[in-house]
Amino acid sequence: MADVVSSDTKNKSFSDISGLQPWLLQQLTQLKIRQPTPIQFHCIPPALEGKDVIGAAKTGSGKTLAFVIPILHQLSSDPYGIYALVLTPTRELAFQIADQFKGLGVPMDLRLSVVVGGLERLIQTSELSRAPHIVVATPGRLADILETSPEFTLKKIKVLVLDEADRLMDGRFDTQLKTIWSALPEKRQTLLYSATITDRVQRMKELASSQVFLWQSDLSE
Ligand code: ADP
Ligand code: MG
Repeated sequence: MADVVSSDTKNKSFSDISGLQPWLLQQLTQLKIRQPTPIQFHCIPPALEGKDVIGAAKTGSGKTLAFVIPILHQLSSDPYGIYALVLTPTRELAFQIADQFKGLGVPMDLRLSVVVGGLERLIQTSELSRAPHIVVATPGRLADILETSPEFTLKKIKVLVLDEADRLMDGRFDTQLKTIWSALPEKRQTLLYSATITDRVQRMKELASSQVFLWQSDLSE
């Protein structure tokens, strides 16, 4: 997929991202993912350092692996309880994200739950009671489960991902997002990826920590 790698990362490989765990490098090689895309090259290092990240680049620029890689890296040294929550606007995207976690996370005993509308609620609730490492969810179903299953908690989340943040925050999900925000711990890392930086995405910057790292691709690329 050479077309997603632009000039500024042409000669870079994932091993140029310092500190990435060797098993992840091996797994990327195995999946024939050789060079980081610009958003991956720029946003993975601050994410590994625990900073909040806001990354913007057009569709197809590899935003998913820009959060999947640092989450699996951190998870493999701290494999307890619910670790990361990924919010995305559609069920199709939720399944695609889950596939990328599973593909790269093959060497790990990864517990992942997809929480989206249209799947059996009871099964999802019982899956969640088994303390998955990663929950990939659309806002509607997650808010619904939070409201109806008081035993389910998000208080242990260490990393929150907002995927396609411009779409998540276009107003459609406001009520559900409010429910979800109030269930999250204040101390967490937030990774936000978006195709565009809308006013609402910009406002998230104020909600994130002062450590936030913002990277936006050159839109002429
Ligand atoms: P976005 O979320 O920015 O729209 P995706 O994360 O869905 O983009 O990635 C688009 C496609 O590019 C996917 O098929 C993904 O597997 C592939 N891809 C991502 N990163 C790389 C990479 N570094 N090298 C090759 N292919 C990649
Ligand atoms: Mg995407």
